[in-house]
Amino acid sequence: MLKNSAVAITDSVISEIGDFEEMRRKFPDISVIGTPTSVVTPGYINAHQHLTGDRYLRSAIPDTISSNDAIFKWIVPLHELLTATDDRLSATAGLVEALSNGVTFTVEAGTVAHPHEVASAFVDVGARGTVGRWGWDIGQGPQVAPTSVVLERQKQLLEDFGGKASDNLVTAWVTLVGHDLMSDELVTKASQLARDYQTHLTFHIAPHEDDVKSYLSRTGKRPITHFHDLGVLGDHVLLAHAVHIDEIETNLIIEAGTAVVSCPWAYLRLAQGITGYGRHADLIRRNARIALGCDSENAGDAIDMIRTAALFAGLTRDGERDFAITSAHDALDLMTIRGAQAIGMDHLIGSIEVGKLADIVIHSTDGPQWTPISPDPVLQLIWASDGRSVSDVVVNGKHVVSNGSSLMVDEPALRAELTARAQFFLATFGKA
Ligand SMILES: [Zn+2]
Repeated sequence: MLKNSAVAITDSVISEIGDFEEMRRKFPDISVIGTPTSVVTPGYINAHQHLTGDRYLRSAIPDTISSNDAIFKWIVPLHELLTATDDRLSATAGLVEALSNGVTFTVEAGTVAHPHEVASAFVDVGARGTVGRWGWDIGQGPQVAPTSVVLERQKQLLEDFGGKASDNLVTAWVTLVGHDLMSDELVTKASQLARDYQTHLTFHIAPHEDDVKSYLSRTGKRPITHFHDLGVLGDHVLLAHAVHIDEIETNLIIEAGTAVVSCPWAYLRLAQGITGYGRHADLIRRNARIALGCDSENAGDAIDMIRTAALFAGLTRDGERDFAITSAHDALDLMTIRGAQAIGMDHLIGSIEVGKLADIVIHSTDGPQWTPISPDPVLQLIWASDGRSVSDVVVNGKHVVSNGSSLMVDEPALRAELTARAQFFLATFGKA
């Protein structure tokens, strides 16, 4: 932790870190963001976020129905109605919220229909991240298609955006719905496709017990064991959730170097059993690759990594009755450098180091949550604060948030447009 310091940015890269006064003398004409009492951190990484659909029904799906009913009675019918413009609008609003809370990198959990619109939204707001197209070849739903068609769509997105980790704002990942909505052929070939393009594969698995029951009845094996036997696992795979895994599956994940993204608010909101059955604390204890995510606006709802990291730390501490397992400093690591390791981006982002891309968050300590200021601001950031402390954000060397507001888009106009569209969709569900 550095005090009285400054970070110099040249173009998109961190060029120097040093004492503020010395840096000021060295660069007298450079513009300064932040104040002497600001707390500066690396940009936060949200490794699982839906950017289309849910936003229009934000916090509107009742919390007294099952997650299956939420998906198949609300989200899937909604996706049937969404236009390309709708996808861009919801992604823009989601990413503006993310940036205002210090989230500079977002792994998109899958656009059902219009990933290019989502990619444009990343560029419009100045956020960094990945886009992916929901792939599924089992069941009934929007864009469900034969295996070969799903794979061709995935390949096209990799061709359009490139998959390999780079300093581009947007790259593409192979993205499947997962659960029990993919054939063995699809998940196996999707994993190979990600390897071929030196990119990643992400999909949902086992946030609840239903996936485990389904794989046991179809294959006689639990899902992670089945994926291992198919040759799907590897360090290019990011499993969304993996809450209901046993010890053998935990070992397989760690041996393969596969990463897991934990979205603790979603598990609590959807009653999925993280407190009773989750093994994410084991993954932490064994130094596995793990990142955190906020999921969707009806599964955790807020796009705020500080809130998420605090909850994750609290759950692992309490679940293990171990006050040392996940400290506030560990929580900060999970949403910065450790998150970057999990998504294969730690050579480019995740820490404030000379030569890395300038994705930086400046927190104001003027608010009541920072009064009085602790000698250890990380304790205060995680346990007392949340995204509302963020004042300024820089992504790729560009100042994109100032005083908590986007410098890239007209937020009042965006909110008005989104509200009008949300009212239309709520009316179609008989809720407006
Ligand atoms: Zn998800």
